[in-house]
Amino acid sequence: MGQLKLENVKKRFGTAEVIKGVSLDVKHGEFIVFVGPSGCGKSTLLRMIAGLEEISEGDVHIDDRVVNSLPPAKRGIAMVFQSYALYPHMTVYENIAFPLRVDKLSNDEVDKKVMVAARILKLEERLQHKPGELSGGQRQRVAIGRAIVREPSVFLFDEPLSNLDAALRATMRVELTKLHHDLDATMIYVTHDQVEAMTMADRIVVLDAGFIAQVGTPLELYHKPDNLFVAGFIGNPK
Ligand code: ADP
Ligand code: MG
Repeated sequence: MGQLKLENVKKRFGTAEVIKGVSLDVKHGEFIVFVGPSGCGKSTLLRMIAGLEEISEGDVHIDDRVVNSLPPAKRGIAMVFQSYALYPHMTVYENIAFPLRVDKLSNDEVDKKVMVAARILKLEERLQHKPGELSGGQRQRVAIGRAIVREPSVFLFDEPLSNLDAALRATMRVELTKLHHDLDATMIYVTHDQVEAMTMADRIVVLDAGFIAQVGTPLELYHKPDNLFVAGFIGNPK
């Protein structure tokens, strides 16, 4: 469970090749961070893993299955975006319950799973509120609640903290690290924030214009960057 493998994955938009052959092996439970400058292809790569973007060439494997032609809901993954995309007219409870309603679970089952998610995310006191009545951090936790409620084995995050202020980002970094530990799930986390990458990742994947520039632990990249691009991006200028 929770294994992910990319095999020479490419993406073309018309004649422009924006992902130029990416291969990566992710083990169950790893916290992988994709970093790189704006436009280097982080979101496109994540969207191909999610099934929201067609793969031009190569294969995406999840748990030993090639999922290239599977719809997002059948891949055993959940995706959390930067914009919260909550339903403003629904309560927190119903926002979190929504994927389970789609799956046609019974009210009892829905209730059990929503309560577990609410406890993990400390939203028990907010379940009857509407998103508009919540702080930014609470809204982001609801979005994460909606992702974890179906108990996926792989989570995909696309810059989930970039709309939050610096103090809240710091808190959420700690919370997401704890969530990763509690859920024992694989996480693929996209950011352009070096601090997030260095503090949260088991391994960092540095992307440069559709290529992987380097893969390694934060310490490996910091002390032994393969090239100037990685060095510049990770922060050790030597
Ligand atoms: P990042 O998330 O790293 O900022 P993206 O994956 O969003 O980068 O974009 C990578 C490249 O692909 C950019 O040059 C972007 O303009 C291009 N791109 C992304 N989506 C589309 C699309 N739907 N059609 C054409 N080009 C796109
Ligand atoms: Mg992006």
